[in-house]
Amino acid sequence: MSLVQTLPRSIFIIDANNFYVSAQRVFDPKLWGIPVVVVSNNDGCAIARSQEAKDLGIKMGEPLFKMRDLIKQHGIVVLSSNYPLYADMSNRLMAILSEYGPIQEVYSIDECFLDMTGVSGDHTQIAREIKARVWKDIRLPVCVGIGTSKTLAKLANHVAKKNPEMNGVYNFNDYETNIVNERLAALPTGEIWGVGRRLEPKLSRLKINSALDLKNANPEKLLKLFSVVMKKTIHELNGEMCIDMEEIPPPKKEIISSRSFGYKVKDYQSLVEAVSMYMSRAAEKLRLQNGFANSVKCFIQTSPFGDGPKYFESKMIGLKAPSNDTRLLVSVALKILENIYIEGFEYIKCGVGLTDIVNLEDIVNDKQPDLFGNKQVVDKSVELMEVMDCINTKMGKNTVRVGTMGYKAPWTMKQEHLSPNYTTKWEDVLVVGD
Ligand SMILES: [Mg+2]
Repeated sequence: MSLVQTLPRSIFIIDANNFYVSAQRVFDPKLWGIPVVVVSNNDGCAIARSQEAKDLGIKMGEPLFKMRDLIKQHGIVVLSSNYPLYADMSNRLMAILSEYGPIQEVYSIDECFLDMTGVSGDHTQIAREIKARVWKDIRLPVCVGIGTSKTLAKLANHVAKKNPEMNGVYNFNDYETNIVNERLAALPTGEIWGVGRRLEPKLSRLKINSALDLKNANPEKLLKLFSVVMKKTIHELNGEMCIDMEEIPPPKKEIISSRSFGYKVKDYQSLVEAVSMYMSRAAEKLRLQNGFANSVKCFIQTSPFGDGPKYFESKMIGLKAPSNDTRLLVSVALKILENIYIEGFEYIKCGVGLTDIVNLEDIVNDKQPDLFGNKQVVDKSVELMEVMDCINTKMGKNTVRVGTMGYKAPWTMKQEHLSPNYTTKWEDVLVVGD
């Protein structure tokens, strides 16, 4: 008999419920039991909602002005986002959770994985204790999902959140395969970690509609059509842990894209091209994380050094509805540029930012055809962006681009003395001999 015994993995994910709202409630108990909405920077759109607010039909990403009537009618409390508070509550939460597992991986501001493999005791019971302890110590409600892989743990957490009768804890390892499969059959592929709503249509065309369908899919076949993450996801759904943390980076709340120019830039047209290019990059990143931005930022600056006149200006515009459409985001950034550009300065840097990012999952879960005014237009835009990303991945960066990006980019970084990227670019790998 082998001395090495492979224990089945037991991965926990602990995730706070409506985190921003819950963090606010810790210090203002009057907010319990009533509808509360936290809104984005500049008080633009809803970025977190209490269950009561969700039940009243407040949508994720809904602009404040559209909620006015509901707010009045139901006495909804609206709070500006308080990021320092959320960061501090997050630290306290993570400190408590770190006491429970030998390996902790903080995944985002309000969720972390614990690898509890080999920890003695009834893990479902431990999960209940964790939930009770977090509530007792810092008054945050959390849900705990458990599975033999991170992907299954994430799905278990989703099940716990959506089924109040589970009291916030669900452990796939407590059930026989047929029961697990029943659960998986009821979960759309868009709910799966690392798959998301973006790949859902493509999977659907292959008749893969549920987590169970994906579990039973051929990993090698899907590797050819998707990325290696998809192949690993299939293994993970089958209970085999193979996704490391870095492989699916946590979604960012803000995406910044900026760079210094190689030359001092005076003309407006060059800035238009640079802003268009940076925003195109940022929008690609946004779509990669299934995100939609609520506000757009743009800045320009002269060199802070030397004797020349100095200028720095940055502005942010809130969008009417969250978007990840390159065309719209570029046009908004250019509007800001037009507003902040002053002729005569020598600009050395410009940049753009996408902030108040919400998840496509959050928006779609609300099943709201009217969020964007016209759902069909959005579907078309999402499809178009998908096609554009697909072409650019296959045929090379910027094959399909917005017209304002231009072609020559004379303002790009001076790299005449750049050494080859020996270790990171295939073209630059050293060749020995011939
Ligand atoms: Mg959460």
